[in-house]
Amino acid sequence: GTVALKPAKKVDSTCPYCGVGCQLTFNVADDQILSVDGKAGPANLNRLCVKGRFGFDYARHPERLTQPLVRRDDAPKRADDADRIDPANPLTHFRIASWEEALERAAGGLRTIRDRDGGGALAGFGSAKGSNEEAYLFQKLVRTGFGTNNVDHCTRLCHASSVAALIEGIGSGAVTAPVQAVLDAEVALVIGANPAVNHPVAATFIKQAVRQRGLKLIVADPRGQALDRFASHSLRIKGGSDVALLSGMLCTIVEEGLVDEDYVRQHVDGHEAFAESVRQFTPEAMAPLCGIPAETIREVARLFAKSRASIVFWGMGISQHVHGTDNSRCLIALCLLTGQVGRAGTGLHPLRGQNNVQGASDAGLIPMVFPDYQRVDGGARALFEEAWGQSLDATPGLTVVEIMHAMEEGRIKGLYVMGENPAMSDPDLAHARAALAKLEHLVVQDIFLTETAAYADVVLPASAFPEKTGTFTNTDRRIQLGRQAIDPPGEARQDLWLVEELAIRLGLPWQHRTPAAVFGEMAGLMPSLAGINWDRLERDGSVTYPLDPLTGEGQAVIFGDAFPTPSGRGRVVPVSLVPPDEPPDGEYPLLLTTGRVLEHWHTGAMTRRAGALDALEPEPFVALSPKELDRLGLPRGGMVEVSTRRGSIRLQARPDRDVAPGNLFIPFCFREAAANLLTNPALDPYGKIPEFKLCAARVSVPVEA
Ligand code: SF4
Repeated sequence: GTVALKPAKKVDSTCPYCGVGCQLTFNVADDQILSVDGKAGPANLNRLCVKGRFGFDYARHPERLTQPLVRRDDAPKRADDADRIDPANPLTHFRIASWEEALERAAGGLRTIRDRDGGGALAGFGSAKGSNEEAYLFQKLVRTGFGTNNVDHCTRLCHASSVAALIEGIGSGAVTAPVQAVLDAEVALVIGANPAVNHPVAATFIKQAVRQRGLKLIVADPRGQALDRFASHSLRIKGGSDVALLSGMLCTIVEEGLVDEDYVRQHVDGHEAFAESVRQFTPEAMAPLCGIPAETIREVARLFAKSRASIVFWGMGISQHVHGTDNSRCLIALCLLTGQVGRAGTGLHPLRGQNNVQGASDAGLIPMVFPDYQRVDGGARALFEEAWGQSLDATPGLTVVEIMHAMEEGRIKGLYVMGENPAMSDPDLAHARAALAKLEHLVVQDIFLTETAAYADVVLPASAFPEKTGTFTNTDRRIQLGRQAIDPPGEARQDLWLVEELAIRLGLPWQHRTPAAVFGEMAGLMPSLAGINWDRLERDGSVTYPLDPLTGEGQAVIFGDAFPTPSGRGRVVPVSLVPPDEPPDGEYPLLLTTGRVLEHWHTGAMTRRAGALDALEPEPFVALSPKELDRLGLPRGGMVEVSTRRGSIRLQARPDRDVAPGNLFIPFCFREAAANLLTNPALDPYGKIPEFKLCAARVSVPVEA
C-alpha cells in the first residue's frame, strides 16, 4: 500500500507558469513535491490559480529525459518526426550516450559549422521559461561562442510588437505600473487579453477593484470572457479591428477637446501630426469596421480620458497581428494624450505570458540588442566587447520566424534550442517542422522529448523549474527568486551548467559559476539592475526595478517625471488601418483565432504532463458558436476537420456561446491536433510577430477513409 508522506521541508519559490509571478511554497519529501501552497508574495498575496497550485507533478513524470541522447545512425530525420516519434519511447530514433559523448557531439557540430560557414550559419533559441541567469549566459554564448546575434526566444511570438511600439513611444518595453495599480484606478481598459484564463491571479485584482473600489471596466475582445460579468462596457469587437476601435476613441478625444494639454506640452512629442492623422477615423466611420456603435466608442473614449486615473492591460489579441505595432501605438497614444501614465492608478501594462518574458528580454535574448536593450549596432557594443573580452558582430541578428525561413533556405545550418518548442509554437508548422528536419545540426536542451527535440541530433536532459535556483522577472518588473526544491532526476543536469559546458567546448574561457555570480555579472552591465544584488534578493525574495536612487526602494509606478528617451519626452506615432493578412473568403469563410486555456500552458510540454491539469482539459477541441454548429449541420461534441491554406487537423467540436458566429477558436497546446499547423506566418513589419490571431479557415465533417 501507499504511505502518505509528510513534507520534510518547505521551499519558498515562485510559480513556473505565467508572468503574474505568484510566490508559492513547495512542500517536499523524498525528493518529491507533495503539494504547493500560496505564499504572501507581493504579486499574489497568497492567491494561486489552478496551474500554480496543481501543476507541479510534471517534474516527476515518467517521460522525463534522464540521460543524454544522440540520434541513431539508422534514423534519418524526416519532416514528420514530431508526429512519429513517441516522447515515451525515444529509443526508436535515439540512443543513450554518455555526457562526455553528448556534449562533445553537441559542441562539435556547432564548432564545425561556425568554422566552415561562419557564425551567421548558426542560431540559438533561448526561453522565457528559463531564469535571468540562463537567458544572460545563453545570449552571451551565442554572441561570443557562435559569433552571431542570431539569438531570439518566444517573446518574438508574444509581445515583440508591443515592445517595438513601447520603445519607440516611451523608450522602454516594460510596464509603467504593476497589475495591482488597478486597485487605484477609476477606469481600466482590458483589450486583446483574457486574464481570467491566462493571468488568473491578475484577474482577481481586477475583479476586486470592480467590486470594492468602483472600478469601471471596459473589456474589448472578439470572444466573450469571464471579466465581461464585471465590465461596465463589454465590447465584442470584430476580430482584428482594434485599430478601428482605438482610432475612433482617439478621434473622439481630439475632437471633443479631451486631450490633457498640460501633460502633452510637458511630456509628449508628435501630438499635432497625430491629432491631424486621427481626425479621419471618426466613430461613425469606424463603427462598421469594429462592430461597435459610434456612440459607444465616444462613451468609452470620454470615460477613459476624463477619469481621475485610467490604466490599460493588453495581451496577445493586440500584439499577434500584422498590425500589432499599430495596435500598441494606439494604446500608447491613448495614455499619453490623456495624461494617463506615471501616476497612481494609471499606465500601460502589456500582460506578460511566461514567468520570465520580461527578464529574458531584459537579459538580451533578442537579436538586435544586448542586455538592457542596448543596440548591437550602437555605441554599447564597445562596452560589451570590453566586458566579454572579444570583438562582437555589429549586425542585428535574425528573429525567430526569420531564422526558420533561413533554415528552410539552408542559410542557417546549426541551431541550439534551450527550453523552446518551435515545432509546436511557430506559425505554419508544416514549414517550421520541415525546416527543423533540414538542419545539419540541432541541439535541444529540455526536460521532455518535445516536438522540437524529435528533430535533434543531440538531446541534453535538463532541469525542471523546481530543480534549480535563479531569478525571474514578472510582468510587474519584480525580480523574484526561484529556489531549488528537488534534484534533477537521473543524469539530468541544470541548464546553467549545460550552457557553460557548451561554451567551454566552443573554446570560451568560461568556468562553472553559481547563479549569484552570474547575476552579479549581469547587474554590472545592466543599468536597470543598478543597486540590486543577490543578498537583497535572498533577503526580500522580490525586488522591483528600477530602484529609486534616493531611497533604494523599488519603483512600482514609473515615468512620472520623464521617459527614458533622449529628450525625456514620449512620442505618439500615427497609425494606419491595415486589413488582416488573410481575411475570410468563399473558399475559407470562417475566421480562426488561437490561444490558451486555463489549465494548459503554451505548447503543453509541462501541463499536459501534470495529472490534475490534463484530467481537466484532456483533448483538443475547436470552439464555435452553437448557432454556427447548427448552421453547418455539425455534430456537437463530434469530430470535425478544420482546414486553412496551410493544413488540416481533426478535433472535437465544442459549442461555445463566447465565440461569435463566423469565428473559430482553437487552443494551441494539443500535440495531437496542433493548431499552429493552420496559422498564418505573415509578420508585423516592425515587431516581426506573426498573425496568430487571425486567418481564414473552414470546418467540415471528416470523410472517413
Ligand atoms: Fe502561476 Fe500565473 Fe497562476 Fe499565479 S496566476 S499561480 S503565476 S499561472
